[in-house]
Amino acid sequence: MSFTPKRFIFLGPQGSGKGTQAKMLADFLNIAHISTGEIFRAAVDQDTILGKRIAAGLASGKLILDDDTNTLVADRLSAVDVQNGFVLDGYPRTLNQATFLEKTSAPQKTILLELSDAEAIKRLMGRMNCSKCGTVFHEFYKRPKTDEACDSCGGDLVKRRDDTEESIAERLRLYHQETEPIIAFYENSGRLVRVDGRPGIAEVHVAVKRALNL
Ligand SMILES: [Zn+2]
Repeated sequence: MSFTPKRFIFLGPQGSGKGTQAKMLADFLNIAHISTGEIFRAAVDQDTILGKRIAAGLASGKLILDDDTNTLVADRLSAVDVQNGFVLDGYPRTLNQATFLEKTSAPQKTILLELSDAEAIKRLMGRMNCSKCGTVFHEFYKRPKTDEACDSCGGDLVKRRDDTEESIAERLRLYHQETEPIIAFYENSGRLVRVDGRPGIAEVHVAVKRALNL
């Protein structure tokens, strides 16, 4: 019997818990969790010509070029720890990237974590970070024991400056615009599964496994 690597993609708006779920699925299957955030940071650390271009792109807040992203992702997917499979999070972000991935390491399933804009805004607006250790809290979902102080180190809790309702709505608008074609792409080839992103982390994890018949 031949061995088939397990390849999955997570799509979902900010606030859907996509990164957390991608990591949990990867841990469960003992395969690599790969996020473009990490790939970009690693490229910037290497300080190559490509790394400098990524750094400039990240600093300007613009999207990284498809060709650069594809190059970095292809490189990452050729690493030894990826031979049993991967869970990708943050990629593909454009149809061009999805087509590229199809030729190199086509995913078996794409999991779309569904969350309404209203719910995503509510989740994102409530986020607070410890200014000392970075621990994330939330005014509805993960309240600190004492208001405005970190449970682990007592540091001040601050809201991210770009977590205003306006900027979140703009990020969601962009998300829909760039993701709709990718959703259609995987749906048309029968590889899209939709999972309700509203329940708690553990429940969503169970639902993801069920949707993938794991
Ligand atoms: Zn802290």
